[in-house]
Formats: sequence, C-alpha cells, structure tokens
Amino acid sequence: MVRTGVYPGSFDPVTLGHMDIIRRAAHLVDRLVIGVTTNASKSPMFTLDERLDMVRREVDGIVDGVDGAATEIHVVAFDSLLMHFAEREGASIIIRGLRAVADFEYEYQMAGMNQQLNDDIETVFLMADVALQPIASRLVKEIALYGGEISRFVTPSVADQVRARVERIGRTVEG
Ligand code: ADP
Repeated sequence: MVRTGVYPGSFDPVTLGHMDIIRRAAHLVDRLVIGVTTNASKSPMFTLDERLDMVRREVDGIVDGVDGAATEIHVVAFDSLLMHFAEREGASIIIRGLRAVADFEYEYQMAGMNQQLNDDIETVFLMADVALQPIASRLVKEIALYGGEISRFVTPSVADQVRARVERIGRTVEG
C-alpha cells in the first residue's frame, strides 16, 4: 500500500526550515503531497502561482524515500479544509513542523480538532534541524524589507526572488 502524507503551508516564501521538514517527511512516506494554501487572509508577498513554482523548483531532485526508494513529491494548491484535502489525496498522515513553544498551542488545538473530523488520519509533528528551527517566512520577509541579509535562511534562488520583490515594492512605494 502506498503511504501518502500531506504537508500544508503558505510557503511565502519557502525557507530552509520548510525544506528540512520536506526532506524528513520524504523519509516517512512513499508519496508526499505539499499543499500550498491560497491564503488570501495573509496577503502574501508571492502569488499562489509564484509560490507553487518556487516550491516545485526547490523540491526538484529530492528522492529520499522509505528504505532508499524514491518518494513521489507533488506540489499542489489547495483552498479547502485541510482534512478534506488530505482525504482527497488519500493521505494517512498530515505533516506539520514544530518550531517552538509558540507553535505548540495552535498546532495542538488544530491536531485535536482534525482528529475529531477524521480519526484515521494522524498528524505527525517533525522538528527541523536545530539551526533551522527559528526560521520563519514572516521574518525572512521582514529582514529583506529592511535590507538585511537573508542568505542563511533560504536558497540562493529564493533569496533572489525575495530581493527582486522587495525592490519592486520599494519602487511602488516611492512612486
Ligand atoms: P502556515 O501558514 O501553515 O503556518 P508556513 O508556510 O508558515 O504555513 O509553515 C508550514 C509548516 O511548516 C507549519 O507546520 C510550520 O510550523 C512549519 N515550519 C515552518 N518553518 C519551520 C521551521 N523553521 N522549522 C520547523 N517547521 C517549520
């Protein structure tokens, strides 16, 4: 039986923290579906299509799977209840990353409610490498907006895209 996991997030932009979770998740499942949320409420820096392209480019080449077998990785958009998305994908697990205590309360509550929606799909929490744990997309954007160095937190190609976007935002604000 093919074991499928879904890993949902906004990925605005995808960071080295996300990539570490993706690599770890790929070890656990045969098929990993990365669900990129449309997330209109968060007014993202990148459009859904840009985020999909970015994540697709970054995961290209990840093959680590269970017992060395290649994991199929799909990157898809979703705009529904997470549990409905997981059911539609035939997933048996939902992957979430845990950073700090601050993440815990929200994640705990969400996992508990998802369990009541469908008790057959388990939420699995993974911790990123210690050095990558503090990384958050929101802070990457904030640092970039103030001209700080983001190359330790995202890949070079994502860093270029963030810088280009910040430059464009800057020009728009100036007139
Ligand atoms: P969301 O909008 O769902 O918080 P994010 O793109 O911010 O989406 O994060 C997606 C998932 O990745 C969440 O489970 C989040 O906790 C996890 N995550 C993000 N950054 C890290 C990190 N540095 N270490 C571990 N998990 C992370």
